[in-house]
Amino acid sequence: MNRNSVVAKKKFGQNFLKDETVLRKIVEAMPHNNNKLVEIGPGLGDLTKFLVDVKSVEAFEVDTDLCKLLQSTFKEEIATKRLHMNCGDVLQAWQSSLVDEPYDLVANLPYYIATNIILKALADPMCKNILVMVQLEVAEKFCANEGEKVFGSLSVITQSIGNAHIIVRVPPTAFEPQPKIDSAVFLIQKNADRSDENFEDMLRVAFKQPRKTLMKNLAVVYEKTLLQEAFVELNFTLTIRPHQVSAHDYHQLYKITRSLDGRRESGNTNS
Ligand code: SAM
Repeated sequence: MNRNSVVAKKKFGQNFLKDETVLRKIVEAMPHNNNKLVEIGPGLGDLTKFLVDVKSVEAFEVDTDLCKLLQSTFKEEIATKRLHMNCGDVLQAWQSSLVDEPYDLVANLPYYIATNIILKALADPMCKNILVMVQLEVAEKFCANEGEKVFGSLSVITQSIGNAHIIVRVPPTAFEPQPKIDSAVFLIQKNADRSDENFEDMLRVAFKQPRKTLMKNLAVVYEKTLLQEAFVELNFTLTIRPHQVSAHDYHQLYKITRSLDGRRESGNTNS
């Protein structure tokens, strides 16, 4: 099999990036450090070619046909340990950490599991930076600021761990075969560990129905009097919507509701 006879497999989200300007923009946006590079879904190896020139790469490719092709294309890089190929599903390989040293994830991700992969990378303490191509709509959610309509739990989780911004928008014509949607490359630079699971549970409740008020969403799960006390302390109006609250204030809300809840529970125990 050679690269000209490859037929893209839809079930693996294969849209190969052909535009060399975009490939170069990805490489230019890579943070400068000594971290290893991890590439998920090297495909035909067009991005990999640039990456192995910069650093050593740990790559994960699910498609066995492509894996064989990559092993022959990059024979020399594999022999000199510039590239290590892992053939199989990256989600299965991902236990607590994907690799056992600090790494940056650089990839044109398969869109059907892109959000899942980014959340795993955010939670992985060994992952330090995330530079990925995804569908534009998803990139905008990760990079949104409070007040923007698409600001949601993904934006709050990201802002709790680091900062994110879009590097470049990419039209369907940059790919072969062309996807139906626009794409974007974005960068998350992590500077903290992931927040706890209970905080993220609260976010899911807060953004369950984004057009409703924050109070209405939270009241489905939390006690209303407790929420009212927290809203007064934080100067939130009763009509505030979930996307109008900053990541910092979500952390404050979480702390206050926990401490009020704790106080109430110890009060109940004493009575
Ligand atoms: N990096 C290449 C490029 O830029 O042209 C290909 C990108 S293509 C959007 C996504 C790649 O991810 C494909 O090569 C696909 O086979 C691979 N892939 C899909 N699901 C995967 C999984 N669960 N684990 C590892 N690789 C996967």
